[in-house]
Amino acid sequence: MKKFALVVALAIFSQAFSYFLMHYYVQPGDTLFSISESLDVSISTILDWNNLRDPRKLRIGEEIVFPIPDGIIYTVKRGDTLESIAARFFTTVSLLKAANLLSSDLLYDGEKLFVPSEIMGMAFNDSAKFIWPVYGVITSKYGWRIHPITKRWSFHTGVDIAAPIGSPVFAADDGVVKFAGRNGGYGNMILIDHGKYQTVYGHLSRIDVFVGEYVKRGQLIGRVGSTGMSTGPHLHFEVRIYGRHTNPMAFLPSPRRMYVLKEEEKWMGGK
Ligand SMILES: [Zn+2]
Repeated sequence: MKKFALVVALAIFSQAFSYFLMHYYVQPGDTLFSISESLDVSISTILDWNNLRDPRKLRIGEEIVFPIPDGIIYTVKRGDTLESIAARFFTTVSLLKAANLLSSDLLYDGEKLFVPSEIMGMAFNDSAKFIWPVYGVITSKYGWRIHPITKRWSFHTGVDIAAPIGSPVFAADDGVVKFAGRNGGYGNMILIDHGKYQTVYGHLSRIDVFVGEYVKRGQLIGRVGSTGMSTGPHLHFEVRIYGRHTNPMAFLPSPRRMYVLKEEEKWMGGK
């Protein structure tokens, strides 16, 4: 309770948005997990808002910023609409507008929208082994193809889903993070171990998990980017069985039904 009181005293109210920005200073014995528990903020949110040098070894006195309620910022890009942004967060336009106190549907390039964690993920299509980790357009399938950069005939080990930079990437299922960092052509990459299966997320602009972390199905794990060998912002998503790549489409719902809003969850009730 003492820690919480300290943070509240440092709270700054952000007038433009419907959240408070909190500043917390790491104390002896703190870990990301203990901070997440005592301040009731997710580890993904802490990692998304802060550029921590090593999430597993916090430095005493290190500043950590996070919003209340729990959530992240999305910067509007040319071509975005409230509908497309709501879809990328698997939420609804009305909840997105309410969270940002928006009275009209007009957006401008560079506008920063706040997306509370509580409204994310209510439209995941949960009908298959994995959920779609990103809402977007499939630009390259699994299998043989002419590589877009090398122009050589080569095997594409995953599926490419195009989405704007900064779009959220969600864990396809519960698992343990086995890799999180730079990995050659994959750029910033995450590998989650689900036991028999592993999933891989490549070309990220941001990584919001750390090695050894237990993640839940639908948890925010990072942001779409174009790092590594990439021709534009997209997620390279791979499914492996005991380490061997396989066709991800066999384990995902139809790409035409990435977004499925369950009517009874439209209200902003409990979790
Ligand atoms: Zn790819």
